Amino acid sequence: MVHIVVADPIHPDGIERLRAAPGVTLDHPATANGASLVDRLKNADGLIVRGTPVDEALLAKAERLRVVCRHGVGYDLVDVPALTRRGIALMITPEANAASVAEHALMLMLNLARNVVPVSAAVRRGEWRVRGQSSTFELGGRKVLVVGFGRIGTRVARLCSAFGTQVMVHDPYLPAGTIRGAGYEAIKDRDAGLAQADIVTLHVPANESTRGMVNAAFLAHMKPGAVLVNTARGTLVDEAALEAALRSGHLGAAGLDVLRVEPMVQGLSMLELDNLVVTPHVAASTAEGLRRMAWDSAGNVIDFLAG
Ligand code: NAD
Repeated sequence: MVHIVVADPIHPDGIERLRAAPGVTLDHPATANGASLVDRLKNADGLIVRGTPVDEALLAKAERLRVVCRHGVGYDLVDVPALTRRGIALMITPEANAASVAEHALMLMLNLARNVVPVSAAVRRGEWRVRGQSSTFELGGRKVLVVGFGRIGTRVARLCSAFGTQVMVHDPYLPAGTIRGAGYEAIKDRDAGLAQADIVTLHVPANESTRGMVNAAFLAHMKPGAVLVNTARGTLVDEAALEAALRSGHLGAAGLDVLRVEPMVQGLSMLELDNLVVTPHVAASTAEGLRRMAWDSAGNVIDFLAG
């Protein structure tokens, strides 16, 4: 028998998959009866986490633990060296939410292009005259720079192409031939790409080399009036520099699904801005994305423990 602990609520189909697996005993939030997660991990062979950080303190009693699966893609809340020291494997659900996040990036682009949030707010206030005041643009014919051409970036590029947007891709870790082979312009010099793009969309992992990459210099290279979309991680962006660029009008607008500090800090001054749209880290959380992340997390842990 193997014992699997699910730390956070996940889609019921994932729980059913675990329950139905032969030789598995299961502990999930609905059955935890107030016990601390540290104690629940005493007999665990496998762990599934969604938002719970995995660190030394959590692993204190987890002597049998062999695998942790993060429900999602980013594992910035997981202390990987702590797992490595204990010989515990880390898994993710790489494909499960890529389509949802890519659609969210397009949704933000369309919202910003059509000024949807401020215009809708004006209509709710009874201000139909906003109709003559809002300046908007089509995605078709515009240039987008996709930064990071992995699972999500490739999908965003495809969706943008379907709108007739001219797609440029910057990903220094991929051969230019891979990008060109997919039908897009490969941009080696990122700053040159920034200078041409009407829309810049971020799809890179959060790590030491990408932390704060969208700083004042990055923003200054962007074309005046251009739009920034970030559905990757909040730590990529220097929010003070972003706010300054939005306030000065150098940047036309920004759409963020992620913030540097989550949950957000109350009183964040950039949230006053009409040219900023923020969603609360929900790009992956569609019905389909949540189901696939739960289903794949369960399958990963069952398969790993079955050898
Ligand atoms: P991926 O690993 O498939 O692709 C990342 C790509 O970025 C790789 O091709 C890599 O070569 C490239 N890259 C790395 N550093 C780069 C740099 N400095 N400049 C340009 N390219 C660089 O990742 P993915 O699954 O596509 O995820 C992309 C991002 O989306 C991650 O930050 C992930 O955490 C985030 N994400 C967010 C949500 C959400 O709910 N908002 C959900 C899933 C993933």
